[in-house]
Amino acid sequence: MHELEIAKIDLVITNRALARIGAVDAYGHVSLRHPTDPTKFLLSRSLSPELVEREDIMTLGLDGEKADRGDNRNPYLERYIHAAVYAARPDIGAVVHGHPQAVLPFTVTDTPMKIVYFGANEMGATVPNWDIHEEFGDTNMLIANLDQGRSLARKLGPNRTLLLAGHGFVGAAKSAIRLIRQCKAMLVNAQMLMDAMRLGGPIRELTPGEIAARDREVGDENSYATFRGFEYEAKMAGRDDLLKERAAHAKEIATPA
Ligand SMILES: [Zn+2]
Repeated sequence: MHELEIAKIDLVITNRALARIGAVDAYGHVSLRHPTDPTKFLLSRSLSPELVEREDIMTLGLDGEKADRGDNRNPYLERYIHAAVYAARPDIGAVVHGHPQAVLPFTVTDTPMKIVYFGANEMGATVPNWDIHEEFGDTNMLIANLDQGRSLARKLGPNRTLLLAGHGFVGAAKSAIRLIRQCKAMLVNAQMLMDAMRLGGPIRELTPGEIAARDREVGDENSYATFRGFEYEAKMAGRDDLLKERAAHAKEIATPA
């Protein structure tokens, strides 16, 4: 199935790219919705994103459990983040969770994550902050069941980026390509906002109209202008070998038998 092979290639490249830019560390994780069955998603077995290969990818249901009960590999504990976001948001095709230093201060203060960088339209206009303690009291801070995942997905609402108090962030995007763009912009935006606040004075934010205009500018993620960014990330992550294979699968889909 060519669609599934492309999704697996995209998931390997996305894992490597997000590890390279520092959006995920050894304990982050990235998933893609299953390309032909929206009730499932693809996620690596419990492994550092930097190391993920196609053979490591598992298929999970929207309850966060293995679609293939015979698969005896260990999934990530916090897979319920992904399950709950896909269940709540049919428009979302890619999800990431990580703990990058640049966003952490914004998770524990009342200072909102304003959108100040032109590329950060990808983050969405509003970035809510979910605190596990509000609903679940004293926990080990990990999202370890579906109830906690659903609570987090409710806080995400219609947005694309969610802060987790004292913990990290969740990114939700339409596609792998858009998710990488979103994470790169988020890291720049967080650092830029922190630096700007240090300079003092009022902060110039993107207006809702500017964010909407930027979204229209990005347009279709299948356009070459957007895909070019994905090629770059694959190359920088040392996995441009996968792009040739991806192109061959895409050609098969485009050419009816
Ligand atoms: Zn975490």
